[in-house]
Amino acid sequence: MAAPTIVRHGSPALRERLLRPLWTGEEIWCQLFSEPGAGSDLASVATRAVRDPGGGGRTAGWIIDGQKVWTSLAHRARWGLLLARTDPDLPKHRGLTYFVCDMTAPGVEVRPLRQLTGEAEFNEVFLTDVRLPDDLRLGDVGQGWQVARTTLMNERVAIGGRPTPREGGMIGVLARAWRERPDRRTPGLHDELLRLWVRAEAVRLTGLLVRQRAAAGDPGPEGSAVKLSYAALTQAASGLELELLGADGLRYDGWHMRRPDRVDMLGRTPGYRYLRARGNSIEGGTSEILRDIIAERVLGLPAVPRADRNTAWKDLPR
Ligand SMILES: Cc1cc2nc3c(=O)[nH]c(=O)nc-3n(C[C@H](O)[C@H](O)[C@H](O)COP(=O)(O)OP(=O)(O)OC[C@H]3O[C@@H](n4cnc5c(N)ncnc54)[C@H](O)[C@@H]3O)c2cc1C
Repeated sequence: MAAPTIVRHGSPALRERLLRPLWTGEEIWCQLFSEPGAGSDLASVATRAVRDPGGGGRTAGWIIDGQKVWTSLAHRARWGLLLARTDPDLPKHRGLTYFVCDMTAPGVEVRPLRQLTGEAEFNEVFLTDVRLPDDLRLGDVGQGWQVARTTLMNERVAIGGRPTPREGGMIGVLARAWRERPDRRTPGLHDELLRLWVRAEAVRLTGLLVRQRAAAGDPGPEGSAVKLSYAALTQAASGLELELLGADGLRYDGWHMRRPDRVDMLGRTPGYRYLRARGNSIEGGTSEILRDIIAERVLGLPAVPRADRNTAWKDLPR
């Protein structure tokens, strides 16, 4: 998500500084987009970025104030992809600017948020008088929405179109459970397993196609379809796994508070998979929002009416 955004919108100096340690995994990134008042309606973000003229020993740049939420792995992140409001007098999509946030800067506070699985994979992040130099800006002032769209489109491909071998991922886990538990087999479960297997193959092959387009620079709105299908498939497969395993499937590897380093759907217990999969249809854009995108931008259906497009952000009811 970060790399394609930096490649497309970053200055040569930023690309030089940020891409290699991102690729090697030496520097972890997080996404500072969602806020308590802006999720699906991301263009409403209220975190402010105000120009800092510098002076008194300070270099000129920006002062950031606001709150972000659901920030996955912020507790491990060196850098954050930050969407902030630079002009509240403009309509919501036009007053945004995109920054790389230094997560070690004074004023960045990361607090864990415990989720359904018992652990805190994500966080709330408070930004109080955080100073960022102007050379950490990605894209022009006021162009934040265009830059954010690059991140969002690539995020959907990253979630839904990850490279998976045939019968890999959740469908592989399910097929293994089927083979290992002949005592639990029924014709109904068999039908359902085969239906999911076919869907998994379709998602996998479409994911390959969309990844190729993303690598060529433009994932396109079809990435939303892959992410939508992936979420539905993972939820159905993790549900069927529990059905197949019966009481054994309800075993859990502990509800104690943990701060994971990554999301590991396959290496954990069926109970964890079932619970964690609920988030798949929310993270990276909810399934409802993705259906809207597919309807408008892939199928060419009429757009949802948007009455707030030309009103200054500061005048919108919030
Ligand atoms: C596991 C997980 C990890 C996440 N990690 C990150 C992260 O790292 N960084 C980050 O910035 N965010 C992250 N998120 C947040 C995620 O992007 C948001 O939760 C998501 O965009 C939805 O926003 P919301 O929670 O504010 O829900 P809302 O936008 O309030 O939506 C609530 C419900 O209303 C529906 N709805 C809203 N608007 C419409 C509409 N116009 N038409 C139809 N239905 C609608 C939604 O589909 C949803 O069902 C994460 C979320 C999860 C679950």
